[in-house]
Amino acid sequence: MNTDPIAVKQQIFNAIQSYKRIVISRHIRPDGDAVGSTHGLAALLRASFPEKDIRLVSEDSSAYLAFLGPDDETPDDSFYEDALVIVIDTGTVDRVSNKKIGLGKQLIKIDHHIDDKPYGDVSWVEEERSSACEMIVDFYCSFRDKLTLTKEAAYALYTGMVTDSGRFRFPSVTGETLRLAAVLLDQGIDTETLFAHLNLEEYEHFKYEAYVYENMQRTENGVAYLFVTREMQERFGLDREAASNTIGYLDSIKNYLIWLAFIDNGDGSIRVRLRSRFITVQELASRYHGGGHDRASGATVYSWEEAEALIREADAMLGEFKRTHEGWL
Ligand code: AMP
Repeated sequence: MNTDPIAVKQQIFNAIQSYKRIVISRHIRPDGDAVGSTHGLAALLRASFPEKDIRLVSEDSSAYLAFLGPDDETPDDSFYEDALVIVIDTGTVDRVSNKKIGLGKQLIKIDHHIDDKPYGDVSWVEEERSSACEMIVDFYCSFRDKLTLTKEAAYALYTGMVTDSGRFRFPSVTGETLRLAAVLLDQGIDTETLFAHLNLEEYEHFKYEAYVYENMQRTENGVAYLFVTREMQERFGLDREAASNTIGYLDSIKNYLIWLAFIDNGDGSIRVRLRSRFITVQELASRYHGGGHDRASGATVYSWEEAEALIREADAMLGEFKRTHEGWL
């Protein structure tokens, strides 16, 4: 398979031009980048090729991103017979939120996660990109004279760029990231409304946040973590989203270079969200049925004992890191 980005982008553009029907899908439990990149590409292609039938198909959604608009109705299987399927922001096939993608005539993967298990007839993966949305904007720029970027598309793509880059704070943000973000801002998008959607919380939410800081735990070498039990989820009325977001509260504690949230799924499995600064957690996640990025990974454990084992490993890793490195804060 060709891996030269310029050639692959051309292949993708040719495929888009040649199909009348296009299905766009993303990963399960979608975040801002998954929703933004799929809505953004759908809006970009609809404005550029009004004659094509373009469907954004996903089996799940995230309430906090509903402001980007609804997905499309699931089409009949026959729709796929002559359709191009584009999956964005999804590292592995099993995480695609559309079980029908195999019915399509051609499958394209566009992603920025580590490419452990490649898939797709055409695959454009750039692991160092800060977001999949950044790649979609880069795609737009590569074929600017043939594509139409609307304000709606720019708004969705900017949402993914700001959320996946931690508001442009993460190390993956480059000069190119900001140049591409500038292309979106030039469309005149309403960032005041966008950040109100992303940042504002109900008052009740802050009671939970206070509880997190009171009840979080810390290891000797600097791992901060919290178990988000079913009891807590019920007590604070946390939906899946709100429980998952717990990880974000643990991210700014000095000396705590790894932070973890264990969210009880209620089905015998516990979702683990792993984050770090200066040190890599991706390999640790991959030892616990997971993976992801160097400093932002996900995993699953099946008991609190297994969770404790993961914490011990994280603590040992961090102890070793601190003994052998300088300059971390
Ligand atoms: P999360 O904490 O679930 O947002 O995950 C952080 C990153 O790790 C995301 O970019 C996910 O794509 C990736 N990730 C999460 N869970 C898994 C998994 N089980 N296997 C591989 N990658 C994962």
